[in-house]
Amino acid sequence: MGSRRVVIIGGGITGTLAAVRLRRAGWEVVLLEARYIGAGSSSRSAAGIRQQFSTLETVLGMRYSVEVYRHFPDEVGGMVVPIVENGYLFLLGDEAAQQAAARRVQMQRAAGLAEVELLDADDTARRFPFVGRDRVVGATFCPSDGFLRPEVVFGEAAASARARGVRVVTAAPVVAARHHNGQLVAVFAAGQWFEADLFVDCSNAWTPRLAEVLGATALPVDPIKRYLWFLGRGGAASAEQLSRMPMVISPTGAYCRPENSDTYLMGQAHPAPPEPDFTDDDQDRVDAEFDPRTGVEGRPYEVWAALAEVLPALESASGFHATTAGFYGVTPDHNPFLDVDPGVGGLIRAVGFSGHGAMFGPFSARVIEALAEAGRSLPSVEVLGRQADLSAFRIGRSFHHAEALVI
Ligand SMILES: Cc1cc2nc3c(=O)[nH]c(=O)nc-3n(C[C@H](O)[C@H](O)[C@H](O)COP(=O)(O)OP(=O)(O)OC[C@H]3O[C@@H](n4cnc5c(N)ncnc54)[C@H](O)[C@@H]3O)c2cc1C
Repeated sequence: MGSRRVVIIGGGITGTLAAVRLRRAGWEVVLLEARYIGAGSSSRSAAGIRQQFSTLETVLGMRYSVEVYRHFPDEVGGMVVPIVENGYLFLLGDEAAQQAAARRVQMQRAAGLAEVELLDADDTARRFPFVGRDRVVGATFCPSDGFLRPEVVFGEAAASARARGVRVVTAAPVVAARHHNGQLVAVFAAGQWFEADLFVDCSNAWTPRLAEVLGATALPVDPIKRYLWFLGRGGAASAEQLSRMPMVISPTGAYCRPENSDTYLMGQAHPAPPEPDFTDDDQDRVDAEFDPRTGVEGRPYEVWAALAEVLPALESASGFHATTAGFYGVTPDHNPFLDVDPGVGGLIRAVGFSGHGAMFGPFSARVIEALAEAGRSLPSVEVLGRQADLSAFRIGRSFHHAEALVI
């Protein structure tokens, strides 16, 4: 079979989990990160993990991710289980939303997600007393959804990778590439060439720029700014109630979950132009419209109000503590690319997570390993004893089956 050397580019959740996985499969692995482990979106994430998607393969893939995160110390390393299974509660605002949800729940159950439930207004109010009575027509709830501790994921994955013999090189932006007969054979970073049989692009929002360096296929991945706000609990909910709260998504798409027992994390996707030339510092830039300190007219207060509309306890929340931000790498159908590059040999692309990359991590690593072993595109990959069709993640797909549940 010859040598099995792989260079992974990008040290976030995707790259670090892929490094562990490929090393375990016997590859000699180098991980190159431009700055430091977790420097990109992985440390700026709401880190929600859900299996409630409208794309069947993603439901299956996320079921697999939940399993891996549950058994993280055995599967990856460290001593901490990084998943908090408080559930995801999608609140439904009208009949049309309820009908669409009923169809989705049927598909999700067919994909093996037995525990997902469709609730009417009465059930929702009884099971989740913090939801305002008469503010919703129902909800879907999956108790095994939840959220992750992302710093545990990439931190422990990088430590485990190092312990297993992966060479992790930080402060190493890839700035040049060498090809032979249409094959990528080496990349240049931190003053030296790294030769390998295979390369994996895990740069997500940076992939348009990295593709130019690598001579790779240009993929439609738009870096789009997203914010998170941290809001004090106030008196209406106890610390215990907040700690047990699921991720809640309002009918307008505003979402919140407990960050800790005294703080809500909240966010909402807003229309924003792609920023293809964003700098590292732009990740933390907070534009005036999104800064709660600018005044009560801005977006954060709008999102707070939208959530308080369905979660009355938030009316007495004590105010904003902090704002963080980062970039989504957004594709036209909100599904990632998990495929070999059709334009240059020896390159796998695992990018374009469109706000789902933390939860995709273990599934992405699984697909990367399968592609690496096959050395070509694959129609499907086996997860949890079933074949997950990979056509939704292929490079060159037509984007007509868009993921409907995007937050
Ligand atoms: C506000 C916000 C909320 C989010 N909420 C969720 C959520 O609830 N659930 C969820 O699953 N996901 C969520 N996401 C998305 C998730 O955080 C990302 O999809 C995920 O972290 C991507 O991980 P990654 O490892 O692919 O990329 P990143 O973590 O972005 O890592 C890419 C790395 O590549 C490095 N790099 C770039 N160029 C080069 C180069 N030339 N050479 C070497 N290295 C390079 C960068 O420095 C960076 O560290 C959210 C994101 C944001 C910003």
